[in-house]
Amino acid sequence: MNIHEYQGKELLRKYGVAVPNGKAAFSVEEAVEAAKELGTDVWVVKAQIHAGGRGKAGGVKIAKNLDEVRTYAEELLGKTLVTHQTGPKGKEVKRLLIEEGCDIKKEYYVGIVLDRAASRVVLMASEEGGTEIEEVAAKTPEKIFKETIDPLTGLTPFQARRIAFHINIPNELVNQAANFMLGLYKVFVEKDCSIAEINPLVVTGDGKVMALDAKLNFDSNALYRHKDILEYRDLDEEDPKEIEASKYDLSYISLEGNIGCMVNGAGLAMATMDIIKYYGGEPANFLDVGGGATAEKVTEAFKIILSDPNVKGIFVNIFGGIMKCDVIATGIVEAAKELGLQVPLVVRLEGTNVDLGKKILNESGLHIIAAESMADGAQKIVEQVG
Ligand code: GDP
Ligand code: MN
Repeated sequence: MNIHEYQGKELLRKYGVAVPNGKAAFSVEEAVEAAKELGTDVWVVKAQIHAGGRGKAGGVKIAKNLDEVRTYAEELLGKTLVTHQTGPKGKEVKRLLIEEGCDIKKEYYVGIVLDRAASRVVLMASEEGGTEIEEVAAKTPEKIFKETIDPLTGLTPFQARRIAFHINIPNELVNQAANFMLGLYKVFVEKDCSIAEINPLVVTGDGKVMALDAKLNFDSNALYRHKDILEYRDLDEEDPKEIEASKYDLSYISLEGNIGCMVNGAGLAMATMDIIKYYGGEPANFLDVGGGATAEKVTEAFKIILSDPNVKGIFVNIFGGIMKCDVIATGIVEAAKELGLQVPLVVRLEGTNVDLGKKILNESGLHIIAAESMADGAQKIVEQVG
């Protein structure tokens, strides 16, 4: 789960990790009020969306007086920001962060991630902050330094100082930078983060080390033990189809293509997406209805696929092991009856109760294209939408 920058900073502040003073605002009036309360002479008005690249897209503005704060707040609230991370549709700005401006001397990058290959948490840092770290990694990988963290000792002060030296933090600020990293690591572990990325981390003119940006992601499987983090969830930032799917415990991910997929089992779902692509099609979603799904759950899953205007055809690929083919068939027929089926439907059923499943589909009056195998089904649906 992703959260907003201002929420991330609020959490960091609780852990003693240095961040500028700031306040969230949901309206222009709140923005001006927040700026007054901060009582500085320079403010930064920052669009809060679940995507980076806001700076380059005009989502970060420096205001020199309250009138400018008002102007920028008016300009940003309600605006759709398109950044390299939002996709072409962009994201509507509904919240702002009004922050005390600061005198940036230099920008750095600090990030904590899970290195799956090493099965360890890794601290990464670079002197090349502010820019896209992916670009630094591609062009000048020698400018990224890493410390692999032993879960028993945690990040040690020695490692934090070493990385601060590597990225050329001024000598007199190394301990401050090291403390920053130790605090960030504590947040990462205690709150079950999957990413804690500070880009930029800055050194200011008056000798402070602090986080100017904060991107925190959390492991969804651990949220049950972090009610405080769950409160940060912003449904406006999530795909409504994915929210609907999560209510029914379905593993559903929206994709860019036009072939809706209904599959049971994550492995088969991945393989189905691969084979659709192999035959030149593009899946509109990943969907695993799970092993023991009920007809109701299948109905909801099918409705979610049907509600996606990009879907120009549906491929149902089911291997009935624990899941029974007749349950799937019943779910499909229910959903199609309720919402109507305007697009071609290719079905490949195999396994437990397959004959009963086929019978239910045949007698439903729905126009269904039967497939003999996965490859056959993929080719047929690609042909239909093409
Ligand atoms: P992102 O583009 O979405 O990653 O947003 P950031 O929060 O990283 O902001 C982008 C850039 O805006 C930063 O790299 C800074 O150069 C600048 N910026 C952000 N906050 C401040 C601030 O308080 N003062 C000044 N002078 N610049 C800022
Ligand atoms: Mn940033």
